[in-house]
Amino acid sequence: MDSSKVYKMLTHQYVINDPLHQLFDAVNAISVQGYDEQRRVIYWNEGSELLYGYSKEEATGEKIENLIIPYALCEIVIDAHHSWITKGIEIPASEITLRKKDGSEISVFSSHVMFTNQYNNKQMYCIDIDLTDVRQAQAQALFKEDMLETIFEAIPDLFFLMKADGTILDYHASNKNYLYVPASEFIGKNMTAILPKKVANQFQSHFAKALQQKDITRFEYELSVPQGLAYFEARISHLKEYQQMMVIIRDITEQHKADELIRHQAYYDSLTLLPNRFLALDRLSQILIEAERNNEKAAVLFLDLDDFKKANDSLGHEIGDKLLVESAARLQQVLRKEDTVGRLGGDEFIILLRGLTEHHNALAIAENLLKAFREPFKIGGRELILTMSIGVAVYPKNGRCASDLLRNADTAMYQAKALGRNTYSFFTKEMNTCMQRRFEIEEQMHGALERNEFELHYQAQFNAKNENIIGAEALLRWHNPKLGHVGPDEFIPIAEHTGLIVPIGQFVMKQALGFLAQWQSADQQQYTIAVNLSPRQFRDAELLNFIKTSLSESNISSKYLELEITEGVLMSGQSYIHHALEQINELGIKLSMDDFGTGYSSLSYLRQYPFDVLKIDRSFINGITSSKADYNLVKATIAMSHSLGLTVIAEGVETAEQLQALNKLKCDFIQGYYFSKPIPAMQLLEFSARYY
Ligand code: C2E
Ligand code: CA
Ligand code: CA
Repeated sequence: MDSSKVYKMLTHQYVINDPLHQLFDAVNAISVQGYDEQRRVIYWNEGSELLYGYSKEEATGEKIENLIIPYALCEIVIDAHHSWITKGIEIPASEITLRKKDGSEISVFSSHVMFTNQYNNKQMYCIDIDLTDVRQAQAQALFKEDMLETIFEAIPDLFFLMKADGTILDYHASNKNYLYVPASEFIGKNMTAILPKKVANQFQSHFAKALQQKDITRFEYELSVPQGLAYFEARISHLKEYQQMMVIIRDITEQHKADELIRHQAYYDSLTLLPNRFLALDRLSQILIEAERNNEKAAVLFLDLDDFKKANDSLGHEIGDKLLVESAARLQQVLRKEDTVGRLGGDEFIILLRGLTEHHNALAIAENLLKAFREPFKIGGRELILTMSIGVAVYPKNGRCASDLLRNADTAMYQAKALGRNTYSFFTKEMNTCMQRRFEIEEQMHGALERNEFELHYQAQFNAKNENIIGAEALLRWHNPKLGHVGPDEFIPIAEHTGLIVPIGQFVMKQALGFLAQWQSADQQQYTIAVNLSPRQFRDAELLNFIKTSLSESNISSKYLELEITEGVLMSGQSYIHHALEQINELGIKLSMDDFGTGYSSLSYLRQYPFDVLKIDRSFINGITSSKADYNLVKATIAMSHSLGLTVIAEGVETAEQLQALNKLKCDFIQGYYFSKPIPAMQLLEFSARYY
């Protein structure tokens, strides 16, 4: 049928509501369609043309299912329409997806009305609103919601929505356990009613800040939770349009612990857990500020364990570490809580005493510290004795700033070491000059060997009976351009301390043996040369090899070399020393006990170690003619030595009377100014050539 004909027929037959059509024609944002009982289009406004793509002419007369109903819905729509017409069951308004002319889908909200016209025919009008934008917005909102939900789930943070006054409106928590309290206890309440006062105050002040500024404000706070102390970070954002606050809470306890650990590592010694150098010195500065303000005294104690290096080397670092830990514990036991013990490094500790009074004074504490070390340390099944030397500097007398006090306490500690260790010493001004000299010597000694500043002098030794020369002792001399002549009594201990004695000792050995070769061949005599060895030289693993090569290089038989050592070498009781002495003996080198009579003069050493010679210290020779006690001691020493098969040398013989007395006591050899002072090699060669 021709469509225009149908159109005329239809309009003529059905249309009743022209004023309404005029209205629908005017609004093209809404699609309005009218259908007859056979579902044929009888009205199609411009909105319908725009929405579905069919022109009025195209649509008119066509059945709804041939136009905009998707194939899958056709039957349902036909049935529903039929039910409405026949049984009066309305088609409810609903969202529905329909079909456009080009086949694409379109979402609409469709409302329906049914009119009955004057011919008693039913007409259905559909009013469709395009939902494309709404749907899109809805989908987007849904997506955002989903996304947020996922984020909330994935993030352990807590989210609280609050009013600007702190009333809690809503929350999100991926795990309810993070809340510590059920939501019902805080929703609708003000956070100040829930949080501890201190934390609530923090929140309030940051709320105020967040209200003023655009950026998120953040702060950290701590809270007691059932598991203990926990740390949180709060970020607050002001949602201006809604007059609300978004509060995001993150548990930073783990991070806090990690930070704490790093802080701890930076300021505490990992072995003893005591404050390290940085923290100890920082505390010292603080104590000094306080002491100045309160007009109080304070003290710095510088502690150094005696011979710790030796213990560490011989017993192993594990035991060394245990000794340090136990030492730290003992030090702490002696002190009050307000005093500080710190580890400066190695075997050095520092103690800071504040608020000194007559009863709480540095002297008493130093004594108590030494006392605390009297008990042997029981480590790994052994008992070890460990002592320490303490230097004390008092504020303000010995210095006003941390570095001065520390330096002066260190100086006093050196003094305590010099006094024989296992003691304390208070700083005096004189010590400073002494220390300065020490530093200067140390400084100048570096490179002195290379600059040829050392020279050996030789002091001849004589047979007491026939007064023949039997050999000489090599004695080191140092001339430094800046310091002038420095005596070995002064520089040898420093060379020992710095370890420079090792290369210097090698120099002495080479020189002395070289000289001996020259001297022996010049005089055609079997002289011996005595060389002094310091304790530190025994720690040099190369010592024996060096002596062996030096002997063979200068072509000297080992029996003409005599090594002088003092009791100090033996006292440490180290097995490597015993071993070295045995090897020296096996090589045929002579061993001489130097300075006998000073120190412990233990007879057991003489029996325990393979000594050949004993040198009576010059302090006894000095008194031999004036003091009966000295005379008797020398007498006993000589008799005892002979009974042990040792040869005896008396050193420091200055007078004929002394020589006479020694002869009477059957002393074997004599060394001293009476015969000759130590003199340079050339002079000794001349002296001995002339002597015969
Ligand atoms: P020492 O081994 O006891 O050396 C003897 C010291 O007594 C020497 O002092 C010597 O000059 C001095 N002396 C000798 N006869 C007399 C005397 O009749 N009267 C007086 N008043 N003194 C006398 P020196 O040369 O100053 O040496 C001091 C110390 O330095 C030595 O004591 C020794 O322990 C150490 N020393 C010297 N040279 C060396 C060396 O090459 N290596 C090592 N390790 N130590 C050395
Ligand atoms: Ca000597
Ligand atoms: Ca001596």
